[in-house]
Amino acid sequence: MSKILNEVLEANEEYVKNFGDKENLAMPPKRRFSILTCMDARLDPAKFSGLTEGDAHVIRNAGGRASDDAIRSLIISYKLLGTKEWFVIHHTNCGMETFSNEVIRDLLTNSLETAELVDGQWKDVGKGPGSRAGEFVEFLTINDLEQSVVDDVERIRNHPLVPKSIPIHGYIYDVKSGHLIAVPKANQIGQATE
Ligand code: ZN
Repeated sequence: MSKILNEVLEANEEYVKNFGDKENLAMPPKRRFSILTCMDARLDPAKFSGLTEGDAHVIRNAGGRASDDAIRSLIISYKLLGTKEWFVIHHTNCGMETFSNEVIRDLLTNSLETAELVDGQWKDVGKGPGSRAGEFVEFLTINDLEQSVVDDVERIRNHPLVPKSIPIHGYIYDVKSGHLIAVPKANQIGQATE
C-alpha cells in the first residue's frame, strides 16, 4: 500500500469516529448556495467561507473556471438541489496564470512527466515520449485575474439555462492573507435581475 493511500485511509478511520449524526443530512445543501473555485491546495472553501458538511455545493477545477462542466454542475445545483446564490472565486498566485495553451501543449508533446517552473518558465525535465493530444484540450488559462472572474461570471450569467434570479458573486481569494476581495465589475454583471 502506498504511503499516501495509507495516510488517507487512516485519516478516514479517525473521521468516521466523530461522524456523529451526519447520516441524517439531506441531499440539498442546507444553506442553498454554491461556490465555483480553483482546485489549488492552498484554498479550503469550507474554512475560508465557513462551511460544514451539508451546507453548500463546492465545484472545483483548475482555475475555478466556468467551463462547460462547471456550468453543468451549477445547473444541477439550482434545478434539482435548490441553490439560490452562487460565488465564482479565483485566487492570487494561481498556477493558471503561469502558462498558455501553447506552453502546456508543447510540454505535453515532449514528455508526460511533471515539468518544472524555472524562473517563471515551464521546462520539461522528464523523458519522452509525450503526446500531441493536448492540441485538443482547451486549458482555460488565466491572463488577467480580475478579467477571468468577470469573464466567468458573465458566461454563467448569460447562459440560457441559468435563471436571472440567481445572484452570482465574483471574488478573488488572497493566498497571502486569506481575504476574499470583491471584483466590482463581476458583481455588477452577476446581479440578479428578477
Ligand atoms: Zn488556482
